[in-house]
Amino acid sequence: MQTYPNQLFVDGSFRPSASGKTTPLINPATEQVFVEVAAAEVRDVDAAVESAQRAWEGGWRDLAPGKREALLHAVARKLREHQEELAQLEMLHIGKPIADARDEAGLGARVFEYYAGAVTKFGGQTLPVARGGLDFTWRQPMGVVAAIVPWNFPLAIGCWKAAPALAAGNCVILKPASLSPLTALKLGQLAYEAGLPPGVLQVLPGSGSVIGDALVTHPRIRKVSFTGSTQIGRRIMELASRDLKRVSLELGGKSPNIVFADADWQRAADSSPMGVFANTGQDCCARSRVFVERGIFEAFVERFVAVTRKLVVGDPTKAETQLGPMVSEGQRAGVEEFLEDARRQGSRFAWGGGRPHDRGFYLEPTVLLDVGKDHRCWTEEIFGPVVAITPFDDEMAMIREVNASPYGLSGSVWTNNLSRAIRVSRAVESGVLSVNSHSSVHVEAPFGGFKQSGLGRDLGMAAMEGYTELKNVYIAEI
Ligand code: NAD
Repeated sequence: MQTYPNQLFVDGSFRPSASGKTTPLINPATEQVFVEVAAAEVRDVDAAVESAQRAWEGGWRDLAPGKREALLHAVARKLREHQEELAQLEMLHIGKPIADARDEAGLGARVFEYYAGAVTKFGGQTLPVARGGLDFTWRQPMGVVAAIVPWNFPLAIGCWKAAPALAAGNCVILKPASLSPLTALKLGQLAYEAGLPPGVLQVLPGSGSVIGDALVTHPRIRKVSFTGSTQIGRRIMELASRDLKRVSLELGGKSPNIVFADADWQRAADSSPMGVFANTGQDCCARSRVFVERGIFEAFVERFVAVTRKLVVGDPTKAETQLGPMVSEGQRAGVEEFLEDARRQGSRFAWGGGRPHDRGFYLEPTVLLDVGKDHRCWTEEIFGPVVAITPFDDEMAMIREVNASPYGLSGSVWTNNLSRAIRVSRAVESGVLSVNSHSSVHVEAPFGGFKQSGLGRDLGMAAMEGYTELKNVYIAEI
């Protein structure tokens, strides 16, 4: 019988939750419960924080950078050795197609490799202060960091947060979403086996409504690094303000995909469906609003729909599958409400809208036209496989419409005109933008949002900065 990492990972070992409570996990492709996972409660948070603080003061804080670097490389090696197992776990609990799940596990390892290298390259400055002497800055770790992550890329985002926080010398308590704890728990176990001392990386699966406030308000937790919805992000920021706790927030999006007539628009049309439907549209960077210059609008839509019709939606265990099921029945029901609203308001369904399979939480990739600019399918994050395509005539008016969104996470611009590429990239209010590509995530580059898409940055050296306090030391010359 298959066994799963299904208990809390605290102080270097698996244990049940203090209450003994568990949560069932449902495979979204089969709708079957396949494992029960321990659900942490407030006492477990206290135990984890105590262990983390002990580990931090007991050596992790002051470990020589070379040793920390070697340990993080060892974690990366473990992740690579267990890449297939991690991919299978990821697929099972969230329905991610296996090919994507393998990529995600590989990305997790790459993130640890990058931050292992960063340990010995990231530091302070010396400053020529006016009064002479020696002035230098120190980048110091904060202490215990809580990393709260969503269910759509549980392993990758867990690594985005854990690796730089650890590299900077903090201890981490990772809280995965209730729907997707398995890969996070495996990460905790593998990191410990790689040599991280007990308490340095712990994993607390459980409901945000039960342990979220305890993590955010715990006086020993110095920073909360959160990825999830804007609604919960707002609550975390409010709670964290009580003791001015550091927060970084990676939140929702409603990203534009802008296609000019001078672009290689055929290439744009061929790649844009997966620019929104990848991960079954459950992607904060999904290009869910497509703006197409009017002269090519009809041809673009025709080609976009032709590509969408051929997408393979089905069994995530198969290598050729491009879209798996949605993560849960509730998530699909929420998206179907959006579609019902769109029908009522007279939007055209150029493709999709139905359920392609009887079993599993599947939903067809759906292409909407004639969506009103005040309709919620246009203004709100749907977080499912739904796109709205609209024509535009005037560049400035289109950019005003793009920037009217409260979100500002990601986006694409397709053009072969260099001046336009520069002008539009500057004007779009988003933290991440790609020209002639849909690629948003590079381990080496900062990732995060403008406006209500977030605060702070994951990835790159910017993430390391976010997990340190900056101290200035002045030494007088006497
Ligand atoms: P969510 O906000 O419901 O949950 C995210 C995490 O927060 C989960 O671990 C959840 O258990 C926890 N949580 C819930 N209530 C909490 C509380 N009161 N206090 C503390 N933690 C709490 O989001 P989700 O449904 O898991 O994920 C989807 C959302 O995440 C979308 O809005 C998506 O855009 C966003 N997202 C953003 C990024 C990014 O990098 N910007 C990446 C992926 C997902």
